Amino acid sequence: MSVDAAPGTADPAPSPTGQCVVAVLSWSHNPPMPNPPTVRDPERHLRYRSFCDGCGHAGPIRSGEGEAVEDGHDHAFPGWRGMPVLVHCPYNIDSSSKKKIAKWEADARRAYPEGWFERGGPVLEWRGSAGTRHVPGRAPGGGYAMAVVRPDRPDRPGAGRRPAEQPVQTSLFG
Ligand SMILES: [Zn+2]
Repeated sequence: MSVDAAPGTADPAPSPTGQCVVAVLSWSHNPPMPNPPTVRDPERHLRYRSFCDGCGHAGPIRSGEGEAVEDGHDHAFPGWRGMPVLVHCPYNIDSSSKKKIAKWEADARRAYPEGWFERGGPVLEWRGSAGTRHVPGRAPGGGYAMAVVRPDRPDRPGAGRRPAEQPVQTSLFG
């Protein structure tokens, strides 16, 4: 889809089975086990890959968790990279938090395609220099909150940058 699509009107392709999900497996890498070319950092001791419990699809082996999370979304939620990037979900810190979170969720549901979050789809969030991990369970339906580093704060190249070659769109609610 185009990033120019109006919020809420995107028509992402359905997942291969309609029941595809994102899970990430991790394990310790023991040299001299060989590394496939999809591993960016051979020195890291952990390896990751996405796995879909809906159809059995497995992604490539990675040395970064974020890459594996993105692989899983490419499989289960084609079109996720072009979804709107929202401000970070408010933290649950005081008595006013519930109301703020409810408003953020309502804004997110308006901005994303109908049924997207019910299928476990991710939400894309602007992040600063810290907290660039893709976080499971933080989207309105329980899917991932995908980190997108603000273009004016690219202080950690390679960590959570916008995972696409598309132009960065302005935040709808920021
Ligand atoms: Zn699948």
